[in-house]
Amino acid sequence: MPEILDGLKIRDQILSELKPRVAQLIEKGRAPGLAVVLVGSDPASEIYVRNKVKACEALGIYSEKITPPASITTEELLAIIDRLNHDPKIDGILVQMPLPDQIDDQAVLHAIHPDKDADGFHPMNVGKLVENAPAARSCTPAGVMEILKRSGIEVAGKKAVVIGRSDIVGKPMALMLLHANATVTICHSKTANLAEECSRADILVAAIGRAELIREEHIKPGAVVIDVGMNRVNGKLFGDVQRAAAEAKSSAFTPVPGGVGPLTIAMLMSNTVQLAERHMSVKA
Ligand code: NAD
Repeated sequence: MPEILDGLKIRDQILSELKPRVAQLIEKGRAPGLAVVLVGSDPASEIYVRNKVKACEALGIYSEKITPPASITTEELLAIIDRLNHDPKIDGILVQMPLPDQIDDQAVLHAIHPDKDADGFHPMNVGKLVENAPAARSCTPAGVMEILKRSGIEVAGKKAVVIGRSDIVGKPMALMLLHANATVTICHSKTANLAEECSRADILVAAIGRAELIREEHIKPGAVVIDVGMNRVNGKLFGDVQRAAAEAKSSAFTPVPGGVGPLTIAMLMSNTVQLAERHMSVKA
């Protein structure tokens, strides 16, 4: 039977390691601070934001939730970001996506000061990821790297295939695996013969957003399968990988739920603490 990579256990490890770092910052003068901007009232976004605020409270991180109406203009949203950029209590700023159609998403993400970019989406921080220089990293792929590291899965020299090329998961995932010395292939919606590409992977990361697209024919026997997908079908959550296929072919896999999902908020907390340490010149 393959090993089930337990994201909840790894999340708890990460959060417990952050606690003394938060305590050290509080001792030094103040708690780390995260501002979460939630525009409008999308129910899924409201749940994500509530969970982020709860995680802050559990760790002793100061959090501020800003909830402008869905009718806000880009200029008004930029003014909120500007205020947060100058607020000394705030170390990290996160704008919950998706934003309403009238908002210029790029202008908003680019307006967040790179030193307060809790999600690692600012082009300056994307550039630092390309350079492999320290900076806040996109939370979900950073969480995948923690799962691999903390589960003792060797990445160097392995063939990794990432399915998905989004700016928030696929692309940063591929770069992180590359920096960990994997030989990386990126597949996407226009890839010819997806199964053939995937079946060469020692480490297969699916970040597609299509329930159970990945089947036995995509998985090399003994591969490590990381399922980032979160697809709700008739109220039930499915990954991008068919669980029975991962059970039949992999040596280890992340379940959905309980695999990659829990790591995303843990890495947001980690980014916030790291930004605060930088702002307060505290060494981790
Ligand atoms: P996205 O829609 O931005 O990107 C999907 C990618 O999949 C695209 O690059 C596309 O080229 C590729 N793709 C689509 N159909 C394909 C096909 N048939 N064959 C091969 N490639 C195909 O999505 P995203 O934001 O990167 O998210 C991907 C999945 O990960 C979603 O299910 C999302 O809900 C989930 N997600 C989970 C977390 C988490 O915390 N676990 C965080 C972010 C995203």
